Amino acid sequence: MKTSKTGIFLTFSLFLLLFFSCAKNPSKEILKAQTELALGTVCNINLFEYGTEELYDLIFKRLHDIELSMSINIESSEINRINNAAGKNPVQVSPDIIFVLSQALYYAEKTEGAFDPTIGPLVKLWNINSESGYLPTQEEIDAVLPLVDYRLVHIDEKNSTVFLEKEGMRLDLGAIAKGYAADEAVRIAAQYKVKRALIDLGGNIYAYGSKEKDTPWRIGIKDPFSPLSTPIIRLDVENKSSVTSGVYERFFEQDGVRYHHILDPKTGYPVQNNLMSTTILCSSSMAADALSTSTFILGRESGIELLESVNADLGNEQEAATIFITDEKDIFTTKNVGAYNMLLLDESFTVR
Ligand code: ADP
Ligand code: MG
Repeated sequence: MKTSKTGIFLTFSLFLLLFFSCAKNPSKEILKAQTELALGTVCNINLFEYGTEELYDLIFKRLHDIELSMSINIESSEINRINNAAGKNPVQVSPDIIFVLSQALYYAEKTEGAFDPTIGPLVKLWNINSESGYLPTQEEIDAVLPLVDYRLVHIDEKNSTVFLEKEGMRLDLGAIAKGYAADEAVRIAAQYKVKRALIDLGGNIYAYGSKEKDTPWRIGIKDPFSPLSTPIIRLDVENKSSVTSGVYERFFEQDGVRYHHILDPKTGYPVQNNLMSTTILCSSSMAADALSTSTFILGRESGIELLESVNADLGNEQEAATIFITDEKDIFTTKNVGAYNMLLLDESFTVR
């Protein structure tokens, strides 16, 4: 009788112990893909067999921290502290800001200001981050154009400060921050010995590692005329980011005219050329993000020149490749896209 009571007690204690050790340590459980809103978009991360709660939390926390620091939509962000002090005083900021802003200025120089992180006053004027948007008058555009000039940004690396020379200037890292965030997610995953992962920050994709041994990831490129329908191109990728800039990502329509969110700093209007989208494949998602916006603005010919020049700096390991899709459904690629087994899935497009 006594023994059996002890037996029940022991079994019960063991059960409790197991129960609480599981409850106390849920981090060992492997979780499927996790989704959170961050960086103004839907972020989906799949770490596969290494996806513990602890690791997902760590990565999403990093994404939220980058947003808190770089978002123009968060009043207290570091970017807005710099913006609010424009024309007044330098502002001390984190190494993240110094790094990403320096990179943004590198692309600004390479594109002679076609890519410009001081695009903020124009983004604000066009009300690009809202559903409705706003069609400004020529006078309004003329008034803010002198405030868009990357040469008036001063970074003091020694003191970790940033200063915008003119009052009214505003930084906007919307064309590069998501790429940086994707690289950071990959860096953390790799640090925790994750071998393969799919990181999708609102279409800013990183296919890390490979799907299986000797089997690459397969990713699709959207139809820029119908982004919700099935992909028009399939690519095999390993350890690469794929980032697309296109007319369809964010836009509003007024009097039958479409106004999208990538602005030409020279004219102050949405970029107008024959491109519908450009996609960059690169092992640096930050480079892919900056280059997709830059090549979209520059157009195909100057875009390819930019790519060659940036690739010379990035080196073979990080070499970027590009796919341009035009308004006539023509697809142009740089030669190095050959490495991705590109397959056209929609015959209404033509690969030139
Ligand atoms: P998405 O935000 O759809 O991923 P992009 O990476 O191409 O697309 O970035 C577009 C964003 O970059 C805009 O919403 C705006 O915040 C900013 N931007 C617009 N025009 C420029 C420009 N000429 N140079 C740098 N950034 C720009
Ligand atoms: Mg971009």
